[in-house]
Amino acid sequence: MPIINRIVDYQSEIVAWRRDLHAHPELMYDLPRTSAFVAEKLKAFGCDEVATGLGRTGVVGVIRGRKAANGSGPKVVALRADMDALPVTEITGAPYASTVAGKMHACGHDGHTAMLLGATKYLSETRNFAGSAVVVFQPAEEGGAGARAMMEDGLLERFAIDEIYGMHNFPGLPVGEFAIRPGAIMAASDYLEISIEGRGGHAARPHLTVDALLVGAQIVNQLQSIVARNVDPVNSAVISICTFKAGHTDNVVPQTAVLTGTARSLTAQVQDLVEARLREVVEGIAKIHGATATLEYERNYPPLVNDARATAFAADVARAVTGADRVDDAMAPLMIAEDFSFLVQKRPGAYIFIGNGDSAGLHHPAYDFNEEAIPYGVSYWARLIETALPA
Ligand SMILES: [Zn+2]
Ligand SMILES: [Zn+2]
Repeated sequence: MPIINRIVDYQSEIVAWRRDLHAHPELMYDLPRTSAFVAEKLKAFGCDEVATGLGRTGVVGVIRGRKAANGSGPKVVALRADMDALPVTEITGAPYASTVAGKMHACGHDGHTAMLLGATKYLSETRNFAGSAVVVFQPAEEGGAGARAMMEDGLLERFAIDEIYGMHNFPGLPVGEFAIRPGAIMAASDYLEISIEGRGGHAARPHLTVDALLVGAQIVNQLQSIVARNVDPVNSAVISICTFKAGHTDNVVPQTAVLTGTARSLTAQVQDLVEARLREVVEGIAKIHGATATLEYERNYPPLVNDARATAFAADVARAVTGADRVDDAMAPLMIAEDFSFLVQKRPGAYIFIGNGDSAGLHHPAYDFNEEAIPYGVSYWARLIETALPA
């Protein structure tokens, strides 16, 4: 059961969609052209239901199979793609390069959207399954929690979704290969902001000041001991301070300093530990210097935890499409984050990576989605539905 011939026949059409989307990138929730493009296609394919406006600009299509699903298995299986681009200036020089200054499909969501459209076309034509396939096109994956916004608009309940699957391209993994793992596959992503209040003054009379910059420097150093000395070394965590703002001239000790950064973890326990220790270190270091400091810690995306059974199923489907030796079902987890995590908190599901070959990395201005991956991705989606919902 390799790549589906009928899907190979769609290749030039799917490539044309992909290039059209690539040339017209839109950001976050502001996707009028992209969501209209998707909704128009879903209607043209003959989806039984097309819903727009979930999570502001999300689009959902429902394809009913030849008969109702029976037995104890899932009756409604959802497939999810993301539609948003990034505020990056493209340097690929491709003939279909971005026509919008400062915006670019640098994460391959153009390819994800085109592949799921291809699968929707195939499933609408063939309907070789029982129950319903729901195709979900979401906005604002890049930091805007678009998946959660669609859930707040009733995505899971309104379409009675039993299981949900996601897919992302992966530069460095050869085209035609897949990688997945059960359990945590991507990290929780938390925002942190540290505000330090000292006492400013003359740079030549430092004994009369409380130097907020010096306190900030101590905090930056000490925070690294949390990962090195508090988190169990067999677990994973990242703390990165990425901005440090203090002072405005060379002869004044700054009164304040503000640091921002990110913390990543794969489990709730490590996330709790990191937040608690951050607070203790920030407040403690400030106190011993006679300053005050506050930590604002905002939990953004939770860890993405793949359901064990859904992961084994997804890996089997991928093996059927591409061959047993081309699917890694025990890849190492990544400390990047993904809002598909919200969906699998509520429904069983699994998120898989598909090889993008030797391309520039995700979010790089020279990145490009690899169109040779399309038949693999579309066949994976189609087979997943036909296997999960046998006719
Ligand atoms: Zn991205
Ligand atoms: Zn992405």
